[in-house]
Amino acid sequence: MQEGADIAREARKLPKADRLLAVAERAGHAGRLGRGPVLEAVRATLEALRQGIRAGGVCPSEPEIEALLLRRLSAEARGSLRRTVNATGVVLHTNLGRAPLSEAAIEAMREAAGGYSNLELDLASGERGDRYGHAAGALRRLTGAEGALVVNNCASAVLLALSALSEQRPRHAGRTPAPLPPAARPEVIVSRGQLVEIGGGFRIPEVLARSGAELREVGTTNRTYLADFERALSDRTRLFLSVHRSNFRLAGFVADVGLEELVGLSRRAGVFVVDDLGSGALLDTARFGLPAEPTVPERVRAGADLVAFSGDKLLGGPQAGLLVGSGEAVELCRRHPLLRAVRVDKVTLAGLSATLAHYERGEAPQAIPVWRAIAAEAGELRERARAWLSSLGAEGAGAEVREGRSAVGGGTLPEVTLPTFVLALPAGDAEAQAAALRGAEAPVLGRIEDGRVLLDPRTVLPGEDARVVAAVRAALATG
Ligand SMILES: *Cc1c(COP(=O)(O)O)cnc(C)c1O
Repeated sequence: MQEGADIAREARKLPKADRLLAVAERAGHAGRLGRGPVLEAVRATLEALRQGIRAGGVCPSEPEIEALLLRRLSAEARGSLRRTVNATGVVLHTNLGRAPLSEAAIEAMREAAGGYSNLELDLASGERGDRYGHAAGALRRLTGAEGALVVNNCASAVLLALSALSEQRPRHAGRTPAPLPPAARPEVIVSRGQLVEIGGGFRIPEVLARSGAELREVGTTNRTYLADFERALSDRTRLFLSVHRSNFRLAGFVADVGLEELVGLSRRAGVFVVDDLGSGALLDTARFGLPAEPTVPERVRAGADLVAFSGDKLLGGPQAGLLVGSGEAVELCRRHPLLRAVRVDKVTLAGLSATLAHYERGEAPQAIPVWRAIAAEAGELRERARAWLSSLGAEGAGAEVREGRSAVGGGTLPEVTLPTFVLALPAGDAEAQAAALRGAEAPVLGRIEDGRVLLDPRTVLPGEDARVVAAVRAALATG
């Protein structure tokens, strides 16, 4: 530890902020970034140095300080949100932005972003049009539902559905529940086996609390029967909620209530059924050698009043929340004041519509990157991994191509993997190699298994192979 006098002496050697500012300006950073970010970087650099000195360090030389600042500014100039290569083999990686979009979706989003559009204008009449009508037709055709509504994401779709339907009584055949006593909260019945946390703080009981409804849990963690729902019915019951377990599995001594059974009871009781499906596939995953995920059309056919699912999971489109179901239930959501707070923007709508068009034309497995990645054959993946290895040449000594497993991710099909081939980097400090790959000009994300960094071509988009090879070369050169 230095004495106070030493610390003061070292601190006096620090350059003045104005001098560093001039250095940054001469390097062109003020023009590139603006003065505000440059000023902040100068202050942050000086503060870091002061802390180093207080901790007993000495003041670096002036050229070293300038180099430090310029490195910080170059990183700043690359921006915070950066294009990243996903070589993890997890197709729907939430930390990496989930679904990459199809060419057609990207083009449609460019179009919508770069000009005005008839977002809320009916071109035929010149009158006010309907923002929510743009994707509704395709969603109705593709799911068989009577009505459809697009919002910001699936979490907000669930919140909106619970808020709108728990305040109302359905026009279903059968008994209509008595009006709520004054100040009583409506009740939503959920199986204890489905009170899940999806991740990112989305927990079913908490979302329900925000909707204003009261949660009524029935059954046990592992077994719930229709009779449990039946016994819990009261004059306050407005809704049955079913939640897809997405990211975990219940195995062993288990019993669940099927959606059809739940719908049957809801009709007799005069309450709504909302199905939070999460991933919401429009294609049968069994076609791709995977276990069957429930598809949206199946859930609509089973009679749920509303099915909620994500735009950027297995659908393979932009972040959005989709609600499909009965005309009555969709109309209640459209009229609910919360809709304005979770509404979808024009760029998303354009990308979503272009994505849905791939399904309508029957070309989704070829055109949508998520499905292309899922459908990729192990043989073609081995060829790509081998091509990476041979591009590395002598620099890749010690690297090898080996069998591996990819995953779908995004809270879809937990524990299910797809056979793949990966490039394993040479044995060494795997954490350091992974850090170097992340620090590349085009950052590359891999995964570490048994002390080796593995790069899986399944999730590397066509055209990104050169970036992988360049990042690996740089990482091995420094490591
Ligand atoms: C992923 C998921 C959500 C949240 O979807 P977002 O589009 O991320 O808001 C909600 N419910 C279930 C069952 C999910 O799997």
